[in-house]
Amino acid sequence: MSNTREFAAMPDAQGFFGPYGGQYVPPELKQAMDDINRAYEEIRQRADFQEELASLFADYVGRPSPIFHARRLSSQLGGAQIHLKREDLNHTGAHKINHCLGEALLAKFMGKQKVIAETGAGQHGVALATACALVGIPCEIHMGQVDIEKEHPNVTKMKILGCKLVPVTRGAATLKEAVDSAFEEYLKDPHNYIYAIGSVVGPHPFPKMVRDFQAIIGNEAREQFLSRHGRLPDYVSACVGGGSNAMGMFTAFLADEAVNLVGVEPAGEGLEREGRHSATLSKGKPGQLHGMACYVLEDAQGQPAAVHSIASGLDYPGVGPQHSYLKDIGRVSYQTATDQECLEAFMTLSRVEGIIPALESAHVVAWAMRVAPSLPADQHILVNLSGRGDKDADYVANLLGL
Ligand SMILES: *Cc1c(COP(=O)(O)O)cnc(C)c1O
Repeated sequence: MSNTREFAAMPDAQGFFGPYGGQYVPPELKQAMDDINRAYEEIRQRADFQEELASLFADYVGRPSPIFHARRLSSQLGGAQIHLKREDLNHTGAHKINHCLGEALLAKFMGKQKVIAETGAGQHGVALATACALVGIPCEIHMGQVDIEKEHPNVTKMKILGCKLVPVTRGAATLKEAVDSAFEEYLKDPHNYIYAIGSVVGPHPFPKMVRDFQAIIGNEAREQFLSRHGRLPDYVSACVGGGSNAMGMFTAFLADEAVNLVGVEPAGEGLEREGRHSATLSKGKPGQLHGMACYVLEDAQGQPAAVHSIASGLDYPGVGPQHSYLKDIGRVSYQTATDQECLEAFMTLSRVEGIIPALESAHVVAWAMRVAPSLPADQHILVNLSGRGDKDADYVANLLGL
């Protein structure tokens, strides 16, 4: 079924990708979501908005991000060629700035008084606080206490950038609780506030809007790869937490049927250890979470399960609705990498190529390192290196006793 026109039309007017997505929210929030959708549909058609975004991508983020052929890594592995799309080189160190700039500009256009969001690893928080500082709009970030302790440099940056940081201590005090807390604040005044979701998740129109802002990654990469190699890569891969860097990379390649798309989820301490991974598509089932229908990891009581990953940005018991759909139709293959494999990839990429990846991104590097040796040397794997590992350096050094 995977023809270009069908993919380009997704989601439908109600925000559905097949059975996934939609707006499972209370009526007062539905109104606010519809307002955001209308404003977004208006702004995206406007030449002045597209020009402003394009010039910020170029002069502020530093786009286009290059593609680097990891020659030493590829030859050590002795198989397919590995290429890295360098989102780690973006201002603020990851892909998230792409959609944060879009969301901040939209907030300004809509005359909102405050931008509210959650953050896991702190990457979304830093990127959003950055975009809000640039645009000149107040910003409030909710973050789990566990993540606050783990991601100290990002916490400091958010404070410097002038956002209000709200620590969340309930439950496991990680990403899911931060989402709940931020949502409660937003519900106090959805007319004057805007919730800037950090991935391709949540109620319509966020999965669509965040994907569209991130699609620059794959659009650039497809053109860069074609012009350098005269052909498309055999594999295009990305790590999947909520799924924004992966959708940003995959969207341009969805209609290229010869291109294998691979999403890599965190297997944590092992897929068989309930509560100790967050491989939602690999181990979850269709359900609802945070205003959308999607694959969900649930516990025995039918509540969102406890999740774990060594990468704070990946530990979420849901996943974007479009990924849920792409899994069902088989267009994307979803694989996993464990904490251990992630650490090995983190160290290998650092020492063989001089690139310290984010722990999130190290999951897809781990997958590429696993499959490359079994593929011929004239095959190409394009890896989305979603972010840099500065934020993880102390944590890994402590863990490995360096
Ligand atoms: C947040 C983050 C992720 C996970 O989010 P997605 O929405 O799945 O992309 C991946 N990599 C980095 C570097 C991140 O900061």
